[in-house]
Amino acid sequence: MNIDKLSKRLELVSSYILKDSTFADIGSDHAYLPCYAINKGLAKFAIAGEVVEGPYQTALQQVVEAGLETAISVRKGDGLEVIEPQEVDCITIAGMGGGLIASILERGKERLSGVKRLILQPNIGAHHIRNWCLQNNWELNAEEILEEDGKIYEILVAEKIDSTKAYTLSSADLLMGPFLRKQKNKAFIKKWTEELKQLQRILTNLNQAENPEKVAEKKEILEKNILLVSEELK
Ligand code: SAM
Repeated sequence: MNIDKLSKRLELVSSYILKDSTFADIGSDHAYLPCYAINKGLAKFAIAGEVVEGPYQTALQQVVEAGLETAISVRKGDGLEVIEPQEVDCITIAGMGGGLIASILERGKERLSGVKRLILQPNIGAHHIRNWCLQNNWELNAEEILEEDGKIYEILVAEKIDSTKAYTLSSADLLMGPFLRKQKNKAFIKKWTEELKQLQRILTNLNQAENPEKVAEKKEILEKNILLVSEELK
């Protein structure tokens, strides 16, 4: 992967960036995504945010090497603290767990004013993001699932909606994704077949727990999810 050739995963993320926008890539690491998006004319300005010193230096170096200092601002900071309210139209957060992405959004909520689209690529735990979107008036309007190098990735695209336009998602939609459930492609079937085995393994272990009352709540959630996934794969 380099700034001219992204992974399939990041290329698909880039395809959802709003045309001519200013966007922030949070957890940018090597800044490949902002460099690619600017070079391809997908956006007019980008902010690459990084919280860790090493990747921050790598991003800075990459932007200088690509001669893109006037179009990409590399900033060091935690999550959305690198952007000001009304500064960006679009945000990408890719390559992290869904729980971490949701916590970055939650902690930086007040900086989301002016943002029209979120493009989120969790490696695991996408349900945390769907849940956050639902609670915060961001409506999912596209989802992707793909396999690359033996790993399965999801991409969730959400846009801000008026609080009067609240929507609901079923438990199955929250867990597996409303758009992904409709497409039910090969990667989706593979992911949930593997997840089901894993959920069943965890349940077997919980059934052998020494203090059943301590794991009762966890067991109930697991059993519910096992049922949802089994139904989905029928
Ligand atoms: N986004 C790139 C991608 O998808 O290939 C890099 C993914 S890399 C696995 C995750 C990056 O997010 C790391 O460089 C890490 O330092 C950064 N990161 C983790 N938590 C962060 C936070 N709270 N704020 C900003 N960056 C964060």
